[in-house]
Amino acid sequence: MRYVIVGSGPAGLSAIESIREVDRDNEVLLVTAEKYVGYSKPLITYLLGKMTEKSKMFYRTEEFLKENDVSILPETKITGLATEDKLLFAENGEKIEYDKLLIATGGRPFISEIEGLKGQDGIFTFTTWEDEEKVENYIKENKIEDAIVLGGGLIGLKTTEALMKLGLKVTIIELSDRILSVTFDRKASEIITRALKKEGCEVITGDTVVRVKGKKRISKITLKSGKEINTQLLIIAIGVKPNVEFLEDSGIDINRGIVVNEKMETSVNDVYAAGDCTEFLDLIDGQRKTIAIWPVAVSQGKVAGYNMVGKDSKYPGGIPMNSVELAGVPTVSVGHTNLIEENGFEVLTFENKDTYKKIVLKDNKIVGAILVNNIDRAGIYTGLILQRIDVSSFKNKLLDENFGFVYLPREFRKMMLEGDVKVWLE
Ligand SMILES: Cc1cc2nc3c(=O)[nH]c(=O)nc-3n(C[C@H](O)[C@H](O)[C@H](O)COP(=O)(O)OP(=O)(O)OC[C@H]3O[C@@H](n4cnc5c(N)ncnc54)[C@H](O)[C@@H]3O)c2cc1C
Repeated sequence: MRYVIVGSGPAGLSAIESIREVDRDNEVLLVTAEKYVGYSKPLITYLLGKMTEKSKMFYRTEEFLKENDVSILPETKITGLATEDKLLFAENGEKIEYDKLLIATGGRPFISEIEGLKGQDGIFTFTTWEDEEKVENYIKENKIEDAIVLGGGLIGLKTTEALMKLGLKVTIIELSDRILSVTFDRKASEIITRALKKEGCEVITGDTVVRVKGKKRISKITLKSGKEINTQLLIIAIGVKPNVEFLEDSGIDINRGIVVNEKMETSVNDVYAAGDCTEFLDLIDGQRKTIAIWPVAVSQGKVAGYNMVGKDSKYPGGIPMNSVELAGVPTVSVGHTNLIEENGFEVLTFENKDTYKKIVLKDNKIVGAILVNNIDRAGIYTGLILQRIDVSSFKNKLLDENFGFVYLPREFRKMMLEGDVKVWLE
């Protein structure tokens, strides 16, 4: 029996842990396009900004893989899959046989149509450690002093923060009328925008880059509005999409991401998928979608690994959640937060200077929460969302300064203390 895992992110690695928990004997082969294995993607912006160091990037080490008797094929990009023959095809010509396969290839950056983009140095996406190295070297070698970040989502803002830590003057360009429009509401976006501007960042909204100019190296961009900005560095961070193109002719059902069931099985026997390359249920609205966050990838990988070795395990679905500090402002966004009262949702808010809290409810159950500058109760709100607790008996206390465990129903308190809620958050 040979288990093959494609992708060395958290989905792939947690699947390996599950497999080895049950099966210590059969072969496990990890195939990955990257040269670094077991590093934390969320830390690449911190590495660029010198807020962390190389030795702290790995959450799973080479020793871990050795101890677990895992063979590795790094820098091996899979380009095709023949499910009838149980064969993977790699870009380097290698053919890899499997008995059970996990696809955990994550997401890849989306790049929009921009005139003059090809053949210019100084233009990067920013989703891997190798991207981080390229940007770091480019800045050093060319003594770059300013940058344009296209895209005001979480990856764009985390990259902005890193570039500002290096002393660069950064301009964010965002197509929608505010930054963070997917993750946060207007009020939270305003607070974060103010904090960014205070630190010297320029924020341009309702606009995008349509043209790039330069002689081999980028020197100027033109916006849709006609405005021109001189720059030597452009980071494109307008979103990621499931990395599934290589499966086009495989017969596996793909919608936006790979379609999986609660056991993380694809539509083809013995082929499983987990993480950012899949789409599965959003627990709040019951819709199938890709929730591209670390904890979902870990949970899905864990479930996939168990099922690959025949141990029955089910993934119930996930919810969006993010906890990041942006421009010195700690923020949390959990669940669905951009819903409005007119559509039958109840919205509770608390504001005091730059502290902002918002809770969105439907039928007395919390479906989303935003916390800005005071993120103290994030774990409790998340637990209440996941467990779909009726909060009517303590709704008026939810945003109190001292809201805490004492207000919660006894059974829920017990679940949280015993770790049953955490299981969903791993
Ligand atoms: C800059 C940045 C910051 C982030 N910050 C946060 C955060 O604060 N919180 C949070 O929850 N999430 C964050 N995320 C998202 C989080 O990192 C992802 O959700 C998570 O890494 C997904 O895990 P995965 O295992 O599905 O895929 P990935 O981690 O993307 O791993 C995919 C793996 O597949 C390999 N691969 C891809 N294609 C092929 C192929 N054809 N052949 C072989 N191998 C292939 C890749 O080399 C890689 O090893 C961040 C992401 C980025 C880029």
